[in-house]
Amino acid sequence: MSEATPPTRRRVLVTGASRGIGAAIAKRLGGEGDHVFVHYAGREDAAKAVAADIEAAGGAATVVQADLGDAAQLDAMLAQVEADGPLDAYVANAGLTKDGLVLTMREKDWRRVLDVDLDAPFKILQRVLRGMLRARAGRVVHVSSIQAIRGGLGQPNYAAAKAGLLALTRAAALEVAERGITVNAVLPGFIDTDMTASLQRKAGDRILEHIPLKRYGTPDDVAGLVRFLLSDDAAYITGQSFVVDGGLSVA
Ligand code: NAD
Repeated sequence: MSEATPPTRRRVLVTGASRGIGAAIAKRLGGEGDHVFVHYAGREDAAKAVAADIEAAGGAATVVQADLGDAAQLDAMLAQVEADGPLDAYVANAGLTKDGLVLTMREKDWRRVLDVDLDAPFKILQRVLRGMLRARAGRVVHVSSIQAIRGGLGQPNYAAAKAGLLALTRAAALEVAERGITVNAVLPGFIDTDMTASLQRKAGDRILEHIPLKRYGTPDDVAGLVRFLLSDDAAYITGQSFVVDGGLSVA
């Protein structure tokens, strides 16, 4: 599944790329000829299928595994990714939810979401930036959420983590701008993936009433924006947050 990277291929890590938004991003980049490191947590078969699609589209793919809440697994995954050289780009997409109310949330549910959705992106960013700084080039996109800027009712841990990711985006962007590295964030609204499946079953029609474009977003709706932020056309954009929510946040 692995192959040597020709000099023209960008080396891009996409976390949580076995399904949903991450898979769409990985395939979009693979279609442009990138060498995509397809990270997954548990479903190797799904990650391999994404890698096969990437290779069929003319890109290169390497499947890498880690539970991002586990520091040792995270380190081992990064060592594998950087073994042949630094990354050109990194997309922090992996994320999870463990919903509850502020008053009753168990500390372990708070901790798990902060570990995976905020601490892990920080640790990976710190590591991959070293190589990008030496190369004096690099692109980073953090996948946040509109919950970072909306109410966050029932998701205090997730909203806090995703808001933290926006602050990390700005601070890092300022820190590395002089070296030609850009760091941006995307804020998806309701996207049709496993993450929103049970919500769609319970409250699908009520949610749609609030979305001006009257549909859920697709993973490709987000992938197109990420692809743009990683492209040469976005060279002068850094420290920014882009909402992709069908108009929900301005309704
Ligand atoms: P998804 O549940 O289909 O995908 C989540 C991905 O994260 C999976 O690949 C999963 O393996 C990975 N992941 C989860 N826990 C992990 C862990 N401990 N270690 C490593 N990987 C882990 O959902 P999605 O909608 O594709 O979500 C992708 C990103 O988009 C997430 O960061 C999510 O918060 C964000 N997002 C999604 C929506 C939406 O409506 N679907 C909205 C806003 C933001």
